[in-house]
Amino acid sequence: MFFASDNGAPVPAQVMDALMRANAGAVMSYGNDPLTGAVRARIRDLFEAPEAAVYLVATGTAANALALAHLCPPWGAVFCHRLAHVETDECGAPEFFTAGAKLIGVPGAHGRIEPAALAEVVAATGRGGVHGVQKGALSLTNATEAGTVYAPAEIAALARIAHEAGVPVHLDGARFANALVATGATPAEMSWRAGVDILTLGGTKNGLLGAEAVILFDPARAFEFELRRKRAGHLVSKYRYLSAQFDGWLEGDLWRDMARHANAMAARLAQGLGQVAGARLVHPVEANIIFADIPRAAADRARAAGAKFYTIVPGEVERVRLVPSWATTPAEVDALITTLGG
Ligand SMILES: *Cc1c(COP(=O)(O)O)cnc(C)c1O
Repeated sequence: MFFASDNGAPVPAQVMDALMRANAGAVMSYGNDPLTGAVRARIRDLFEAPEAAVYLVATGTAANALALAHLCPPWGAVFCHRLAHVETDECGAPEFFTAGAKLIGVPGAHGRIEPAALAEVVAATGRGGVHGVQKGALSLTNATEAGTVYAPAEIAALARIAHEAGVPVHLDGARFANALVATGATPAEMSWRAGVDILTLGGTKNGLLGAEAVILFDPARAFEFELRRKRAGHLVSKYRYLSAQFDGWLEGDLWRDMARHANAMAARLAQGLGQVAGARLVHPVEANIIFADIPRAAADRARAAGAKFYTIVPGEVERVRLVPSWATTPAEVDALITTLGG
């Protein structure tokens, strides 16, 4: 009964097989190997973006912070949701990599930025001339940190507000695959066609050992991104092993199948929670993250039975976060429900 996070899951055999395939002979380092070229081309095809620049790094924090540094000057503001991972969970990496940009949390129900609130804060930023930070970048997350998703049209509406003010758009796609299969959108519809300038495409939360792609849909300053990545210590020399992970992940659409499974397990769990006395969902369950308020006695029972999950707010009614992964089984979900129900 492992529901702590989707990055606690193992790596699927197909990805391990891809690594073994790549583990033959010597090849050029730093991404100058044939497999990296092929993976780059495959990602461009998948996104219908033949010009895009594609880079792989080892963590989502590095991907986000490098992307934001590329889009936002040191004196800029990064507009993001109040719950955004870049705001709450990256130890100031976006501020550090941008050399001092200010993150501004924008409100919105269930992890989604409210368009009117964004328009207001964007308009207000930079009015004070030299005394305040200037408009920098918009950072969205899909699926959101609350486990909801933006439809492509919702991304487009927020991106339009940003672009009209000259603000470029970053999408934190740590769980992009989960959002994609939840909406049925194509990768292009969920990214550049909706106005996303840079996407960080997460692999680690969906079955990889540690690999995330940064996709620059406008490659005009790609070399600058390469310099930032190297300077930050994120140009991996044995690059083929990052590429191999994506090779196995994309093969036969495995990445979307895994995300579909994780979302289905979350839907099953959400439905089961409906039968647990005193349990209540905090946000709509649209991807693979569930926030629920449950009686502490039920949570204690589950912990005693070995279930793993995070407590977000302790109390007589405990707020917990439950995150199924590609590897979660229906039996695990059902066992948790049974245990919670007493
Ligand atoms: C996990 C996660 C990341 C990346 O985190 P790392 O631990 O640095 O890999 C980024 N954004 C969101 C929304 C996440 O959930």
